Amino acid sequence: MGPAPRPPSLPLPGQYADVKPNRRCFEPQTQSKGDIFQAAKFGLLEECKRIVSAEGPGLLDRYDDWGHSPAHYACLAGSVEVISFFLEAGAPVDLPSKAELSQRPIHWAAANGHEAVVHLLLEAGVAPNVEDQRGCTPLILAAQNGHTPLCCYLIVSGAQPSLCDVEGDNALHWAAFQGHRELVQLLLYSGLDPRQPDDFGQTPLHLAVLSGDMKTVKLLCEQEGVSLEVEDGNGSTPLQLSRGREHRDISTYLEGALLQASRRFPCFDWSTFVFGPPGKSKGPVLFLYACLLLWGYPTYFFKIASVSYNKLWEFHVIFLLANILMWFLFLKASLMDPGFLPRNSEEYGKVIRQAVLSQDWQRDRNLLLRLCHSCHLVRPLRTKHCRVTNRCVEHFDHYCPYVYNTVGRRNRAYFFGFLSAMSVNCFLGLYLCVDWFYTMGRNLFIGIGFIFMAVIGVISGIMAGICLSMAVQNTTTNERLNHQRYSYLREEDGRIFTPFDRGPLLNLLEFFHLVPPLGEDELLGMDRLMVI
Ligand SMILES: [Zn+2]
Repeated sequence: MGPAPRPPSLPLPGQYADVKPNRRCFEPQTQSKGDIFQAAKFGLLEECKRIVSAEGPGLLDRYDDWGHSPAHYACLAGSVEVISFFLEAGAPVDLPSKAELSQRPIHWAAANGHEAVVHLLLEAGVAPNVEDQRGCTPLILAAQNGHTPLCCYLIVSGAQPSLCDVEGDNALHWAAFQGHRELVQLLLYSGLDPRQPDDFGQTPLHLAVLSGDMKTVKLLCEQEGVSLEVEDGNGSTPLQLSRGREHRDISTYLEGALLQASRRFPCFDWSTFVFGPPGKSKGPVLFLYACLLLWGYPTYFFKIASVSYNKLWEFHVIFLLANILMWFLFLKASLMDPGFLPRNSEEYGKVIRQAVLSQDWQRDRNLLLRLCHSCHLVRPLRTKHCRVTNRCVEHFDHYCPYVYNTVGRRNRAYFFGFLSAMSVNCFLGLYLCVDWFYTMGRNLFIGIGFIFMAVIGVISGIMAGICLSMAVQNTTTNERLNHQRYSYLREEDGRIFTPFDRGPLLNLLEFFHLVPPLGEDELLGMDRLMVI
């Protein structure tokens, strides 16, 4: 193993307020009256106006002892008023600094996450992809500092996510290196390649490992084509880097993932082919099929029906019809769209732009939290991004491996029906088994079927009961499990109180699609509502 890998060097953008000038030629500016640089730095609009009217707008073209223009300081402060005044006064707002990095005001605003100022500069014609001396664009600087909403805004405003700095690091490398998972997700969706190495041979996965953020590491490992064994310029794999940094949880995770990959490889992904990829395993659904089709039904037709059909033919007809109904409900729950929302909504870009322009930043920030950067949409209330199907689902309930589908607003009634029908069928089957024992005596084969059906019948019956109780209360499994995440829910004595509750009857009618759900504007206390 070579020397410790070199992470991208962070130029500490946004900390320019602390940059010390050359003391030999600097007199403290704070003591001089009428200093436009200090007035801009503290966002003092009236002071700026007074100085400019006294000394003329030509003052705004000048540089201070550090080599920065007044616009640099206004951007550092994030002062919309001062930048607007400078623009009205015809001041240049895109001068490169004479300091080491030659950064422009937009770089300072981006590094500090000042969305509204960046918006003003872009409107004034500043190029969104302008680079400093290290090749950093505003997007790269915003990514280095984890300003996800600003990154969204820059991308929808024409910033090129694929541009790299002088060390070959793009916004994704930086977001990974800083461990900003949500931002990494956004940049992956924007088309950046998670396998691309920088000039040190380090991929975003190497850099995420260095950050020590487990969620970012997991997210990158899950991306298609990402190799866990790729070596950087020093010959280090992500696992070696993790061990070097003593990130024990990440090392354990990577060891497990590598072991899984090595097990799967020699048998040419037979298990993936048959059972599906990890996290979306077909195992449970195949087990259900196999038990019923290869064993349950043959036993019924060849052993049980032949014994009791004549005596209990009405019962058998009901049993067969209930089975047909169960398979119909299963296919509906399994194959139908559970309420996937269309990707790439126009509202996504609009919300980002609006939030940047809005005076009520806090309120719109809440709206920004409702963005799904994987689907590029604004999530309505009760919508959640399903990690297995990788889609946003209306009234997300849970992902069910037995129906191999997400359960959501559109298919949850069929899911409930499937559970109920399965429970009823199991109990009808139990009766037929008892009749068989009574007529034919003990039998191990039928006995195992009896136990199997008893267990499945009780479990599916309990699950159907829970489903029904949630339907009556108008909550979902997700809301019950994660109610602390949603400010619109509160829990008392084990019951979830929700603004969607319309009384048991209307709740049930809504569950079975007989009345439409309430719109967000019809709910009480909308100002409290926020989805994380
Ligand atoms: Zn989504």
